[in-house]
Amino acid sequence: MTTEASHPLYSPLPVELSERPPAELPPAPALRLAPERLRNATAAGGGAVALLWGVQARPSARLDAFFATGAHLTGLLAGYGVLVLLLLMARVPAVEHGVGADRLARWHALGGRYVLGLIGAHALLALCGYAVHTRTDLVTATGDLLAYGAIAAATVGTGLFVAVGVTSARAVRRRIRHETWRAVHLGALLAAALGFVHQLAGPDLAGGLLTRWLWSMAHGTVAVVLVWYRIVVPVRAALRHDLRVAEVRDEGPGVVSVLVRGRGVALLRAEPGQFFRWRFLRRGLWATALPFSLSAPVRDDTLRITVKAIGDHTRRIRRLRPGTRVLASGPFGAFTAHRRTRRKVLLLAGGVGITPLRALFETLPGGPGDVTLLYRASDATGLVLRAELETIARERQAALHFLLGPSDGAFDPLAPRALRDLVPELAAHDVYLCGPPAMARAATASLIRAGVPASRIHSEDFDHA
Ligand SMILES: Cc1cc2nc3c(=O)[nH]c(=O)nc-3n(C[C@H](O)[C@H](O)[C@H](O)COP(=O)(O)OP(=O)(O)OC[C@H]3O[C@@H](n4cnc5c(N)ncnc54)[C@H](O)[C@@H]3O)c2cc1C
Repeated sequence: MTTEASHPLYSPLPVELSERPPAELPPAPALRLAPERLRNATAAGGGAVALLWGVQARPSARLDAFFATGAHLTGLLAGYGVLVLLLLMARVPAVEHGVGADRLARWHALGGRYVLGLIGAHALLALCGYAVHTRTDLVTATGDLLAYGAIAAATVGTGLFVAVGVTSARAVRRRIRHETWRAVHLGALLAAALGFVHQLAGPDLAGGLLTRWLWSMAHGTVAVVLVWYRIVVPVRAALRHDLRVAEVRDEGPGVVSVLVRGRGVALLRAEPGQFFRWRFLRRGLWATALPFSLSAPVRDDTLRITVKAIGDHTRRIRRLRPGTRVLASGPFGAFTAHRRTRRKVLLLAGGVGITPLRALFETLPGGPGDVTLLYRASDATGLVLRAELETIARERQAALHFLLGPSDGAFDPLAPRALRDLVPELAAHDVYLCGPPAMARAATASLIRAGVPASRIHSEDFDHA
């Protein structure tokens, strides 16, 4: 079902968001690390660590030496892996803007499983090596090893890493509060520090002063990067921009837009499609930084988000008062015009996933007919920012289709055939996709079956950040 008529229930495009063209924003930061580069650099680092091990390894036919050599390799790789995991989450702008926060979070989660496996293998191999060497059983060997301070520290660190892994398992994470998951995750920093103490004291870095110096430098650098981007940069931005809620606007059932104003907001260089992590300094909200995409381009020192109430925090946002202080860290995300490779672009939104696409719909360069927006919702009341979308479509002569109906209805508007009928030359498009996970998965499969290469489907995942 499609419609292109304007709707009297919805307010027109707000004047302060429409009067100045986005071209007046300062240029975006030039540095963006491509995902392949980050992958290659990570693999190269792993290769260098394996080389370090290879140089130190002394071939031996003895069983205890075999276990010890295996323990050295897995220990070094685990130590390196922990550094990579921390760096992926350090919020370095070039990495965030090039790779994208959702992809970084997925890599971090996948890498975390490998690192846990390496830590487990390291512990087991070291224990077996010691038991064979001292001709004792595993229980006695465990007791002996725990008497060493550095090994006891590493064991506590391993316990913390296991807790992080368990609380991150999908089944557990769904059942616990985000804040609990996050608090346990912070334990990984202590675990990394304990692991570092263990590595410095242990035989893995006994190869010489240079190896110990390099290892310490790598850890020091990661610590500085983390403190800089996770603490110093957001605090400096908070002082510089002095952001405050300017207005909270009703956008329909359970949905509000929040306009946040401050000093020199354009200097944040936020691009349409990106998001910030927002901390509203009022009771019940200040303790959590919630990710929300910009639902309009930045203008007149104003940022706008549009929020659907789905839980405790998002429900409180409706009650924010003008003047409330806001700490916003960002911008983050690679769901921007820079991903585009083709003249023709299809924007495909589901539910509140419209927010980043609303900003892109207005600003993506292109002539009449180059940009199409498909917006899937179960019924017309679920369409957010509808009047604005219709105004933009009219002004830039872009196609806009609302695809309404239940997700289990007989007709699937996201089936390959239906998509091809709605969007002429579909296979020649770049696609920007944002919606609930099930809808995004189904739409991706349909688009690929309709001939759009997977490399041209760019998605933003509201479940990972
Ligand atoms: C990159 C990105 C952009 C987003 N943009 C928008 C947007 O424009 N509009 C919108 O309405 N929603 C957006 N979301 C979703 C929004 O962040 C969540 O709906 C919100 O955080 C839920 O908070 P809650 O406490 O009310 O709900 P809860 O019921 O407590 O949480 C619902 C789910 O949201 C996730 N979540 C909760 N708190 C956080 C947090 N602090 N950080 C990360 N995830 C969290 C959890 O995985 C949880 O399963 C976005 C999410 C991401 C990752």
